[in-house]
Amino acid sequence: MFESPRTPNTPTAGPAPGVLTSLLDLLPTMDTAGLDEADLIDVLATAEAAKNALSGLQARAAVALDAAVRTRHLAEGLPAEKAGAGVHTQVALARSESPHAGHRLVGMAQAVVNEMPHAHHSLATGRLSEWRATLLVQETACLDAEQRRQVDEQLLADPSVLEGVGTRALVARARKLAYAASPSAVVDRARRAVKDRRVSLRPAPDTMSILSGLLPVAQGVSVLKALTMEADRLVGIGDGRSRGQIMADTLVERLTGRASAAAVPVAIQLVMTDRTLFQGDGEPAFLPGYGVIPAQVARDLIRRAGGLRTPGTSTGGADDLPAPQQLAWLRRLYTAPETGELVAMDSRTRIFPAGLARFIETRDQCCRSPWCDAPVRHHDHVLGWAAGGRTTAANSAGLCAECNYSKEAPGWRTETVTGARHTTVVTTPTGHHYRSQAPPLPGDTS
Ligand SMILES: [Zn+2]
Repeated sequence: MFESPRTPNTPTAGPAPGVLTSLLDLLPTMDTAGLDEADLIDVLATAEAAKNALSGLQARAAVALDAAVRTRHLAEGLPAEKAGAGVHTQVALARSESPHAGHRLVGMAQAVVNEMPHAHHSLATGRLSEWRATLLVQETACLDAEQRRQVDEQLLADPSVLEGVGTRALVARARKLAYAASPSAVVDRARRAVKDRRVSLRPAPDTMSILSGLLPVAQGVSVLKALTMEADRLVGIGDGRSRGQIMADTLVERLTGRASAAAVPVAIQLVMTDRTLFQGDGEPAFLPGYGVIPAQVARDLIRRAGGLRTPGTSTGGADDLPAPQQLAWLRRLYTAPETGELVAMDSRTRIFPAGLARFIETRDQCCRSPWCDAPVRHHDHVLGWAAGGRTTAANSAGLCAECNYSKEAPGWRTETVTGARHTTVVTTPTGHHYRSQAPPLPGDTS
């Protein structure tokens, strides 16, 4: 988040939402029939510029919204550090983006509108795209407002310099100017980047997955070196596997403490219909943290895991720990054959018990805020416990940490409504509504 003055540049002619709505009504009726080749090129170029100019309008609207909400929050007596809470989520919802993207968009808008007048002018007149503006903001994020203004002046005072310059070249120019403006700030930023280290998993084709680690460079190099050395050693004594295969197997073995080919190493939770499991049905299964996997692959996983307990014994708690003789433990949650609804239990306590928490994570798959793809971190009472909300599957939603926090900002309301699947509606302080429906599960026929 960028610190910046709270007085945005005010456009001279205020945009009436009605003008934009009329434009939106008009666009689908615009016909390209009868245009010659030169006209068609002009349509393509002008439409591109118009999209950029609209991004400029969105940036000014986001900055104005932020200022209005902060002023209102302070007037309502909110502490200064909480003023403006939830603005990025409102911007994200209005733009069909995730809250994470909302942070980036509001930060970009504040920096461009308040601190980079030339970039703002290029955006507003259609010469600079929103994405390229975002990259310029990122490259100057470590500078103070005055230094950033200086880079903006040097880079974009003459907007024609953008013509023909690729995005990578533009970023390189901005980086060089930022370094010249403040070498120490750029070096400090590299040091601080260490705090962003993390590990993530994303699906790859053919039921494979990509495990990524964002690491400080020395650690990344040493991890790769350890795997390479083990591959060299085993290839040297005649191991039949390729170097790549040995490195992948060694990674799994050293992290989980188990031979990679022997078993699924930790408790994972497959969701499938009984028809898929017992009758060879083709309905795909769902593996939380990964996504949809083919029915036969799911059955192979279970066969390889071995030593399973009988269906229906998974209730959470200590009995879910793998017995010593078991190679692995796959926890199965069955979906009802007709509706695809999972079977859940309710609780009288405020805290969601382990079985119900697991149920919510399986039902919701990722954060239930519209457009948010982040993993579930909190099991939230849709109607708060203090307001009489019960600890039930119906009154629950899986949220990421950030969305759980935004929900607490003044003027936000969430409620469950009837729908084909579990459905909630978020109402923002401006009275806009956004629906969120749980994703379909294996066996879902709706
Ligand atoms: Zn979220």
